[in-house]
Amino acid sequence: MGVFGIGIGGGKRGGLRPPGLAFGLVPGPVLGALGLLCAALGPAVAADPPIRVGVLAYRGDDHANAVWEPTVRYLADRFPERGAEMVPLDLAGMDAAVRTGAVDFVLTNTGNYVELEARHGVTRIATLHSARSGPTGAAIGSTLIVRADRDDIRGVADLAGHTVMASDPEAFGGFQIAWGLMQKAGLDPFGDLRDLRFSGFPVDRLAFAVRDGEADAGILRACVLEELAAEGRIDPSRFRILAPRTAPGFGCALSSDLYPDWPLARLAATPEALAKDVVVALFQMPEKHPAALAGGYLGWTVPLDYQPVHGLFQALRIGPYRHLREVSLADLLWRYWKWLAFAAAALLWWAIHSLRVEHLVKVRTAELRAANGSLVHEMAERRRAEESARARRREMDHVARLSILGEMASNLAHELNQPLGAIANYARGCTRRLEMGAGDPVELAGITRAIAEQAERAGRIIARIRGFARGRTGQGGGHIERVDVNEAVRAAIVLCEANARSDGIAIAAELADGLPPVQADAVQVEQVVLNLVKNALDAMEGVEPGAARVTVRTHMELPGEGPGRIGIAVADRGHGLSDAARARLFEPFFTTKPDGMGLGLSICRTIVEAHGGHLEASDNPGGGTVMRVVLPIADNCGPAAGPDHRGETSS
Ligand code: ADP
Repeated sequence: MGVFGIGIGGGKRGGLRPPGLAFGLVPGPVLGALGLLCAALGPAVAADPPIRVGVLAYRGDDHANAVWEPTVRYLADRFPERGAEMVPLDLAGMDAAVRTGAVDFVLTNTGNYVELEARHGVTRIATLHSARSGPTGAAIGSTLIVRADRDDIRGVADLAGHTVMASDPEAFGGFQIAWGLMQKAGLDPFGDLRDLRFSGFPVDRLAFAVRDGEADAGILRACVLEELAAEGRIDPSRFRILAPRTAPGFGCALSSDLYPDWPLARLAATPEALAKDVVVALFQMPEKHPAALAGGYLGWTVPLDYQPVHGLFQALRIGPYRHLREVSLADLLWRYWKWLAFAAAALLWWAIHSLRVEHLVKVRTAELRAANGSLVHEMAERRRAEESARARRREMDHVARLSILGEMASNLAHELNQPLGAIANYARGCTRRLEMGAGDPVELAGITRAIAEQAERAGRIIARIRGFARGRTGQGGGHIERVDVNEAVRAAIVLCEANARSDGIAIAAELADGLPPVQADAVQVEQVVLNLVKNALDAMEGVEPGAARVTVRTHMELPGEGPGRIGIAVADRGHGLSDAARARLFEPFFTTKPDGMGLGLSICRTIVEAHGGHLEASDNPGGGTVMRVVLPIADNCGPAAGPDHRGETSS
């Protein structure tokens, strides 16, 4: 709706207005221009502009004219020198007119007044005394209507999930009072309804929408229903009042409390004297004056208390209390307390869970620390046990070596006798020649050289025996180095050659040339070979001297996975392995010899396996046994190149 002025002028206006009534629609913004024009025309034209009264035309201009024009005409009659203008306005137009000062007074509904009061400082100077108002003068309420046959909606709370129609969100009786009702019933009209629609003004179509089932319920300013019925526009029997209530002396159907009726308010800029004159004029309006009859009121009374309206607006957080809608912490707490409680519970649970986990971690850490302590202790124990086992094994090795040497002692002594005897002979011959004075120095030098050679030979034999008996390091073994397998085999053969020779047994060494070294304890490798050769010699006891022969071979094993390996095979032509011996060969203390200890092969296997190799026995085709040792070659050593050379040592 635009802002239009309806001029009602007196006769002292000169050419501006004809005497008597003058009606015409004037656009609101033009009002100010008219004022300016008056000012420009100067005192020769008019002294005072007409009194401008802005009227809320909530049911349209025609309705407003019909209801309020007589009241404005009454004022025009009371101020013939100025006249009066009625300016019908909708809610937005009312606000604009007050803001721009386009009117002097406003005649508006209660809610709109409170808003204008707060926003623009308008002041009520009189309150309408409605024909329908009770003894308190309050006459504005809301009427909630449903169709008469809607038995499912009995109370305000039943509106939840239904479609409700009101006239305008800013309409005081037409929505806001009912909104307060719904709020009291625990219902949020903007959230709990299926739909909230606004019909706008005039509100006739709202009643029609409820009647025709387009809306489940409607909100009317109290008495509008009766007005529509009186005008014959609706049949009131088609409607039922929701949550009906009565107010003493109030003649319309009602669902809510009653609030003060429309006030007439002056703008802050309106002169005091004018306001006073207007109030006096209104209070003096005679009873049953045509203006009062047209406006449906009895007259004007002192301005009523609009505090209940403030209370309502405060509860709804609208109008001047709109700022309360800015959500406060308390509001948030109230609105989301369930979620907050859930979050707090979750947080509490999480905190308890974290504490529990932390506690468990502490307990577990303590347990692990204790376990670790006992593990460290256990490992130290185990290291000690392993060390003492190793020491025992070294001792056993030592004993085994000494035992072998013991067995070979007489033959070794015999072996030593040869160089010693030769030395003695050479020395005697030398002495004789010197005594006879026939000592040719060149010949004597040859003899002493031979003596020295024999002495060195004896020394080498003794060194071998000492080395073997004590271990090469002198501490009983454990010295890992790159060992030439052929060298170890030769050293072992030297030690048992004397025995073999005395038994009439030949030892043949078939040693492959260019073998890569193995990573081993040389004395232990010697010990293994010596043990195997000695067992081979033992196994050939009673074999005819011509057939008795032990062959020691070294060779590269066939290439397989991993680093290369070297094989040492000791083959004899002895009595071979009995079934019992085959099954228990490597068991400690298994022996078939009357003076045997049964430790040799068990120690040999332990030594070989400690070097990452293995030891196995098999039958020698054609009779006898083959004992085979396989040792891995040292890291980063490929098989050495060179021709396969086989040498032979025999007694
Ligand atoms: P010992 O020589 O003190 O008996 P060993 O552990 O060296 O202890 O040998 C265990 C047994 O294995 C021998 O008593 C013997 O019966 C058997 N044995 C070992 N080597 C051979 C072999 N080359 N031929 C036949 N039997 C053998």
